[in-house]
Amino acid sequence: MIGKNLQKINQQIALACSRAGRSPEKVKIIAVTKKFSPDAIKQALELNITDLGENRIQEAVPKIEQLPEGITWHFVGHLQTNKAKEAARYFSLIHSLDRYSLARELQKQAEHLSGEIRQPVRALVQVNVSGEDSKHGLEPRELKDFLDEVHRWEALNIEGLMTMAPYVEDPEEVRPVFRRLRELRDSLAVTGLELRELSMGMTNDFPVAVEEGATMLRIGTALFGPRE
Ligand SMILES: *Cc1c(COP(=O)(O)O)cnc(C)c1O
Repeated sequence: MIGKNLQKINQQIALACSRAGRSPEKVKIIAVTKKFSPDAIKQALELNITDLGENRIQEAVPKIEQLPEGITWHFVGHLQTNKAKEAARYFSLIHSLDRYSLARELQKQAEHLSGEIRQPVRALVQVNVSGEDSKHGLEPRELKDFLDEVHRWEALNIEGLMTMAPYVEDPEEVRPVFRRLRELRDSLAVTGLELRELSMGMTNDFPVAVEEGATMLRIGTALFGPRE
């Protein structure tokens, strides 16, 4: 089942890439495993999916500890400051850096990581492009000042931007959200802030996100089926 789903997703990515003149190799699937069982996750691993995403520390840490090494774990949910330590310890990339106080805490935790796991914390800055009250993230106009500051911090590597589009029936409606994130990335590049990654697109809207330049898709339902 998961194998068939993955095939279908890969086909849709390939089609979207050909419409946009992009290479599918530049688009990574993050399998969002929240609320899915270790069994389902093991099936995904057998299909060579090695990038997995979780959105809650309490749920993720026991899963991470019982699954094999060699998985690249992505934290995609809202991160409370008091969970920054575990996020830094267990996750390779944090997609949801959305405020200065969290950046400070992640930097501090990265400095305190010990031994072989000591390395900069890698993060994407979450941007609230759609402006919905319910969404976390910096406002687009806050982005430049924020990055100018945190970019200089040695123990924190900012590698890109992330956004969540509103849920809509017709994904064409959220194309402007994805386009805006890409334009923000491009305008920052002009000022010397190179950000490679654009984490955008979920089950409902990922082909449109690919057309608009997504480099990381966060996909749960289309791969594993509906959550309980
Ligand atoms: C759950 C979740 C996803 C995946 O959602 P699906 O609609 O199941 O693909 C992506 N991003 C975030 C932040 C999530 O919490």
